[in-house]
Amino acid sequence: MQTKYIFVVGGVMSSVGKGIATASIAKILQSRGFPVSTIKCDMYVNIDAGTIRPTEHGEVFVGQDGIEADQDLGNYERFTGIPSTRENYITTGQVYQTVIRKERNMEYKGEDVEVVPDIPNEIIRRIKQASAKDKAQITIVELGGTVGEYQNLLFLEAARMMRLKNPQDVLFVMVSYLPVPSKVGEMKTKPTQHAVRCLNSAGIQADFILGRSDKPLDKKRKEKLSMFCGMPIENVISAPDVDSIYEVPINFEKEKLSEKILSKFNLEPKKANLEDWGELVDKIKNIKKEVKIAVVGKYFATGSFILADSYISVIEAIKHACWANDVKPTLTWVDSEKFEEDPSSVETLNQYDAIIVPGGFGSRGIEGIITSIKYARQNNIPFLGLCYGMQLAVIEFSRNMAGMSDANSVEINQDTKHPVIDLMEEQKKNMQESNYGATMRLGNYPCSFVKGTLAQKCYDKEHVLERHRHRYEFNNKYLDLLKSKGLVIAGINKKQNLVEIVELKEHPFFVGVQFHPEFNSRPLEPHPLFFNLIKSAVNRQK
Ligand code: GLN
Repeated sequence: MQTKYIFVVGGVMSSVGKGIATASIAKILQSRGFPVSTIKCDMYVNIDAGTIRPTEHGEVFVGQDGIEADQDLGNYERFTGIPSTRENYITTGQVYQTVIRKERNMEYKGEDVEVVPDIPNEIIRRIKQASAKDKAQITIVELGGTVGEYQNLLFLEAARMMRLKNPQDVLFVMVSYLPVPSKVGEMKTKPTQHAVRCLNSAGIQADFILGRSDKPLDKKRKEKLSMFCGMPIENVISAPDVDSIYEVPINFEKEKLSEKILSKFNLEPKKANLEDWGELVDKIKNIKKEVKIAVVGKYFATGSFILADSYISVIEAIKHACWANDVKPTLTWVDSEKFEEDPSSVETLNQYDAIIVPGGFGSRGIEGIITSIKYARQNNIPFLGLCYGMQLAVIEFSRNMAGMSDANSVEINQDTKHPVIDLMEEQKKNMQESNYGATMRLGNYPCSFVKGTLAQKCYDKEHVLERHRHRYEFNNKYLDLLKSKGLVIAGINKKQNLVEIVELKEHPFFVGVQFHPEFNSRPLEPHPLFFNLIKSAVNRQK
């Protein structure tokens, strides 16, 4: 059967929830019994997101196969449960790299290699490759950015070519923003009309508009958009702001979006299966009890918008774990640098029910984080350290429990006398050659649990695969010493002989992991480490 394709494009402005819309469309079609695939096209010349600062582009999402991708792939995974791999992430850089490599290999057999059609053809090849990998019947392709941007054009051209070839198999959804100017007090449709015209000028007619706004679209707005944008009124979908992103698929279904899409594709919908999801959404609305979580780190300088984006998977993992514990989180971003200026202010951490130190790089704010970890350890505050958070917990323990006052990571101080966290052997050459792109220890690696440890109890199995993204590691030269001082090694990679999990006895919950469990949390299946952290936070409240 011919695969169907839905292109999701943005109108008016960015950050209106195109990623969530894409994930939600995938979710509702999947719930109707159709195998789906999701693809993110990023317009950047970067080959992947691994070399982009999180404050610039949000979290770097890591796939099982080690792809360092746009954060939207995380939303797709959380909504559909389907692991995204490198095929699901396409950038301008990848496309050009392949075309140029093929040209050098004479694969164009002496022909001119042209921007059009050779670049769109490579985009199309990649879209089909991802669909085939996921055995999808419907593939949803999100085009990054907003229509009208110069760098979108070749991706729109690829989409246009696909529609031209198989008009009945390709649909366009425009996710657009409808402002309500405070002085006017009325929802304005004109910017969206312009966006649809702009898409027209690329040779594409939108089939659906998802109208994003603070409020639902009323009948008059829908009529206007239908009339001026050239689509039946029932294809103008209201997508108002919601408290929880997980409500979006439910709202789309209130507008019968899956049925409308399937009927355009001439596909017979099967009975929808969104019950669990709907129950979760109802549950979230009714939870009253709160737990207070501090996330201690940096990247906090650029305002709350950026910061939430930099740690989106961590935030979602916290929420999933809270809901499963019948509580909701109040998250506070704690800038560790303030503990460096005023060390006594670390006492303010006492008000929290749990502390999380997420992943990170470089030396800014690190001493303040170490101070916070010490506070969590000494004051029995439930603590979870993720990647850098684990490494910094090892440094803290080495300094304050094992008498190595200058213990450090080589990432922070190359000349430290006690490099308890050291550059991995295979990374040394990469660093000498400035070979940064996609060279970290990336993606899934196995971790075997040590029997009787807290981590093993949380997971309740013998091994697990978790996703990694790091260059430094626990230095095994210090293993025996740190163990003798009470550091518990709870998980190791047996083959590479690497420490994966550390924890403490006589503490309600103190766990540091070299990997990123946040990428494996799902709304209906919280990650066991986050679940148990929150459980412990709830106990602390009591
Ligand atoms: N900077 C550390 C390393 O490269 C930790 C990385 C991370 O937290 N993802 O090993």
